[in-house]
Amino acid sequence: MKAVIIGAGMGGTSAAIALRQLGHDVEVYEQVTENKPVGAAISVWSNGVRCLDHLGLGNETAALGGIIDSMSYIDAFTGETMCRFSMAPLIDEVGRRPYPIARAELQLMLMNAFGHDDIHFGKRMVALHDGPENATVEFADGTTASGDIVIAADGARSLARDHVLGRDVERRYAGYVNFNGLVPIDERIGPATEWTTYVGDSRRVSVMPVADDRFYFFFDVTVPEGLPFERGAARDVLAEEFAGWAPGVQTLIETLDPDTTNRVEIFDVDPFHTWIKGRIALLGDAAHNTTPDIGQGGCSAMEDAIALQFAFRDHPDDPLAALSAYESSRTERAADLVLRARKRSDVTHGKDPEATAAWYEELRHEDGTNIIRGIVGNIVGGPLT
Ligand SMILES: Cc1cc2nc3c(=O)[nH]c(=O)nc-3n(C[C@H](O)[C@H](O)[C@H](O)COP(=O)(O)OP(=O)(O)OC[C@H]3O[C@@H](n4cnc5c(N)ncnc54)[C@H](O)[C@@H]3O)c2cc1C
Repeated sequence: MKAVIIGAGMGGTSAAIALRQLGHDVEVYEQVTENKPVGAAISVWSNGVRCLDHLGLGNETAALGGIIDSMSYIDAFTGETMCRFSMAPLIDEVGRRPYPIARAELQLMLMNAFGHDDIHFGKRMVALHDGPENATVEFADGTTASGDIVIAADGARSLARDHVLGRDVERRYAGYVNFNGLVPIDERIGPATEWTTYVGDSRRVSVMPVADDRFYFFFDVTVPEGLPFERGAARDVLAEEFAGWAPGVQTLIETLDPDTTNRVEIFDVDPFHTWIKGRIALLGDAAHNTTPDIGQGGCSAMEDAIALQFAFRDHPDDPLAALSAYESSRTERAADLVLRARKRSDVTHGKDPEATAAWYEELRHEDGTNIIRGIVGNIVGGPLT
C-alpha cells in the first residue's frame, strides 16, 4: 500500500513512521521549506511518551525531556505557595514519566526518524481528489501525488478538513493569548525539577524544565481576539500585563528574550465525528483542534498515528476498512480531550469568575490528589494506555 501524508508536524511524521513500521510505502509532503515549528516547547504526557516509545524513540525522547519531579501553584501577588506535590503518584499510576521537550528538537527527532531527506518540503497542498482506486493531492507548484490513501495532517487550519466535512469549519477563539519561549533555568523563578505555575486574576504563568538546563515558560493573557502585536515587544507587553506579580514572574520577564518569545492566539474547534471521506483521512489538529490547557493536542495527534497503524495491521488488505476502523477508534477519545481542555481553559481564564475564584481556593487545600486524578483522566483512554 502507498500512503501520501500531508504535513510534517508531530502528527504527520508520527503517522509516517507508524505506517512505515508496517512496511508500507509512505511519502510525506510539507508546505514549509525547513523545520521551523511554532512554539517553544511542549509537554509530552505519558500517553504521548508511550507513543514515542512505540515508534522506537523512547531513549531519544528521554534525552530531550526535562525532569518534572513535582508540581506547584503559587499565588500570583503574594508569591505564597498554594500547593506543592510530588509527581511520583502520577508516574506510578500511568507507568511512564511525562517529558516537556523543546518543540524544534521533538520535531527534528521525528523527522530524522522517518528520514529528513524523504520529506518533500516546499509542497503546499491546494486540492484533494478522491477516486475509486486512489486519492490524489494537488500542490501549488502544479505537481500531484497519488496513493491508496491520503492522510491529511495539515494542522489547525486544515484545508482537508473542509474537504472531508464538505463545509467551512469555524475556529473558536478561547479568549486568551499565550506567550512562550525558553530561558536558562533560574531557581528564583521556580525549582529546577518542578512545574511551577503562578495563578491570579484569571491568568497564569508557568515554567517547566526541558533538556540542557532550560525552562519552557508561558504566560496566558486574557485579551480580545485580533489585537496588534509586533514581534520583539513581548517584554514590554508582559511587564505591563504582569506588573505587581510575584518576584519570580518579574525575574522571568527580565530574563526572557523578547525576539524569540512567541505570541499565539488560542483557538479550538467544536468536536466532529467524520474524519474520513473515501480514501482521505484527517489526523492530528486537522481532526481535533484543542486549546493547550491540558497539554494533549500533540499527544493525541501521536495517539492517532498509533491507532492508524493498528487499523492497518488489523485490515492489511482493505484500506477503506482500515480508515473506517481508525475513525471509529479515535473520534470519541479526541472529542473528550478537546472538551476537557475547553473546560479547563474556561476555569483558568475566568470565563465564570466565581468558578475561577473557587478553583484558587481549592488550590490552597490541594494535596495533589485531585490534580493528579484529572491528569490521569486525560492520559488514559488512548491506543496504548
Ligand atoms: C501554545 C500551544 C501550546 C501547546 N502545548 C501543547 C502541549 O504541551 N502538549 C501537547 O500535546 N500539545 C500541545 N499543543 C498542541 C500541539 O502543538 C498540536 O496539537 C500539534 O502540533 C498538532 O500536530 P499536527 O501535526 O496535527 O499539526 P501541526 O504541528 O500544525 O503540523 C501541521 C503541518 O502541516 C503543514 N501544512 C499545513 N497546511 C498544509 C498544506 N496545505 N500543504 C502542505 N503542508 C501543510 C504545516 O506547515 C505543518 O508543518 C500546544 C499548542 C499550542 C498552540
